[in-house]
Amino acid sequence: MALTGLQIQKLLPKTNCKECGSNTCLAFAMKLAGKKAELSECPYASDEAKAILGAASEPPVKTVTLGEAKVGGELYLCRHEKTFFNQPIFAVNVDDTDDGLKDKIEQIKNYVLERVGEILTIGAIAVTQMQDDSQKYLDAVKTAAASGRPIILRAKNAATAKEAAVLIKDNGGVIVNSVKESALELATVARENGLILGVTGATLDEIAEVTGQVKESGFNDILLGIPAESLAQRFQLNTVARRAALGNIKTMGYSFLHFIEDDNIYNVLRESTNEVCKYGGVIVFPKLDIALISTVMTLRQNIYTDPQKPIQMEPGIYRIGEPTEDSYVWLTTNFSLTYFLVSGEIEGCGQNAWLILPECEGLSVLTAWAAGKFGGDMIAKFVLSQGLNESQKNKSLIIPGYVAQIKGDIEEGLPGWNIIVGSQEAGDIESFVNSTLNK
Ligand code: SF4
Repeated sequence: MALTGLQIQKLLPKTNCKECGSNTCLAFAMKLAGKKAELSECPYASDEAKAILGAASEPPVKTVTLGEAKVGGELYLCRHEKTFFNQPIFAVNVDDTDDGLKDKIEQIKNYVLERVGEILTIGAIAVTQMQDDSQKYLDAVKTAAASGRPIILRAKNAATAKEAAVLIKDNGGVIVNSVKESALELATVARENGLILGVTGATLDEIAEVTGQVKESGFNDILLGIPAESLAQRFQLNTVARRAALGNIKTMGYSFLHFIEDDNIYNVLRESTNEVCKYGGVIVFPKLDIALISTVMTLRQNIYTDPQKPIQMEPGIYRIGEPTEDSYVWLTTNFSLTYFLVSGEIEGCGQNAWLILPECEGLSVLTAWAAGKFGGDMIAKFVLSQGLNESQKNKSLIIPGYVAQIKGDIEEGLPGWNIIVGSQEAGDIESFVNSTLNK
């Protein structure tokens, strides 16, 4: 029977040293009970605790860390049950025949997409061996490793993989084992070099057999390369493997590592979206196609947003352009998407402005108003708390057209201010500016 948080706490040191990232041993015990942490995160856990909690305290899907990003640690089959936690890492493949490898690596390393306040990048680089000349492969690995990104090694044989692993020691990367017989040897290499082992196989049963052996050898930082002959089969096998993991089949309790081999743009799109939606852990794209990767990054961001916590901005005052005391003050909620739409439209009209976002728990305008979190009194108090009454000569506040009904309440709370009802939709801001502010 599963232990409760209080029962687990009795087995912990109770020093509340915080080294596990929780404020108290009890908080950590509650996480263990909920399978949101692993006992290995407490460096002071006694042998007795390890023996009793052992496998029972392990999350169903092992969390591993590539560089600074975590994958795995998932608790649910479907996002709507609660949320998914650790988004898949996107990697790009290069190989030892690539001309201009250095430039390609630079492009991968420097690619950045900023979306709704999040900075999205390529999290790892895979290096595949295509030629028999192992020195060429090792040179390619060295070039890729200079990027500082975690490297995923896919060598032709264990001997080359072993040499390459030394070059990326402690870089937080992965060494892929493609032959069942070399799994234990490469697990040792992975352990010695601080890497993760990618286990592949012809069938799920074969993979389970190998992960069982590797785990028994004392190494447990594993990713699974699920074999499939078609997209439909991949969809099915990913689901089978994850369902097994959540059903406590420990040999399947790992995140997935998938190489997209076909570089036809439609196939890459199909495979990558399947992995994002169906439990992918590390997704290796065949090349850096910015239009495609940015699209899939957007999907990933949506799937891995906690549906119970909208993406939100810090409440406060945001500058658009070079605002002064004569600029208009605009108002909207702190829902990130609303903020980026509204600020983009104001900026697009060439306006220098102040944009204020009160605390609305990340809700959109109408939802916040309906939930009583975007009322006139509260907004007036927020404007005063930000010192705008003292700093602004132009005491004009533009409010969203959808909440025109709170104009009177704001006027009462902000004597001397001119409250202007703006457009309902962000897309109509330009015509509002031209018809009302610039006339
Ligand atoms: S690291 Fe261990 S001893 Fe320290 S607070 Fe966490 S559980 Fe307690």
